[in-house]
Amino acid sequence: MHIVVFSGAGISAESGLKTFRDSDGLWEQYDVMDVATPEAWNKDRELVLRFYNERRAQVINAVPNAAHFAIQKLEDHFDISIVTQNIDDLHERAGSTNVLHLHGEIIKARSSVDKHLLYDIPNGLIEIGDKCKKGSQLRPHVVWFGEAVPEMERAYSIARTADIFIVVGSSLNVYPAAGLVQLVKPGIPLYIIDPKDVALAEANALHIKEKASIGIPMLAKDLVKKYSIAER
Ligand code: NAD
Repeated sequence: MHIVVFSGAGISAESGLKTFRDSDGLWEQYDVMDVATPEAWNKDRELVLRFYNERRAQVINAVPNAAHFAIQKLEDHFDISIVTQNIDDLHERAGSTNVLHLHGEIIKARSSVDKHLLYDIPNGLIEIGDKCKKGSQLRPHVVWFGEAVPEMERAYSIARTADIFIVVGSSLNVYPAAGLVQLVKPGIPLYIIDPKDVALAEANALHIKEKASIGIPMLAKDLVKKYSIAER
């Protein structure tokens, strides 16, 4: 049985990484338009790099929470694919082996002229003057608002093969990622774990109104009980 977990910023909130919609559209005191758009990059590279250097430091110091670990444990019972909007690496650090990042990975740097040139960031900082081998300034390996989401086609294929689909910590406001839910096979179990209402109209969705660290371990236990024995 193939379980697809679609995760958003909310799953990492209890690891201390703030979502931005929960803080009145400010992401850690910054207006996202000033720091997370191609226009911002063209206007003030230093500010954009500083913003992501700060976010990267937070990510490096954060640890996965009970939700990340419970999803990893599901690999003992099911085929698990994680499609995440998050740019942190907390799923990987919890041990999950199959993670697709739709919005990139903050722990990597990318050439600003060749999207295939990726680099590790050994000291955690990208600074003005740090260049790729083609001589262009390095930027964070993240997808900014207004940029295309290169992994979308892969994500669509993954969603289409789900037997169970779980949304956790995503308001489902960020397109095209949010459109994934609309692609799942009709009638499959659809779960939402989020303490707030999310923008999903599907009548067959079961909304568990809990924080991820409570709701995901609860759901994981139920899924194992319900499907795993019959499966293996
Ligand atoms: P979003 O619109 O997907 O909203 C976050 C959702 O998480 C909301 O529905 C909220 O109710 C829910 N939530 C809050 N606390 C929760 C908890 N403890 N458990 C479960 N759900 C919880 O996300 P956003 O903040 O608007 O971010 C948009 C984009 O910005 C992301 O897609 C990502 O690319 C980037 N971002 C990434 C991170 C990260 O990597 N950790 C953090 C913030 C923003």
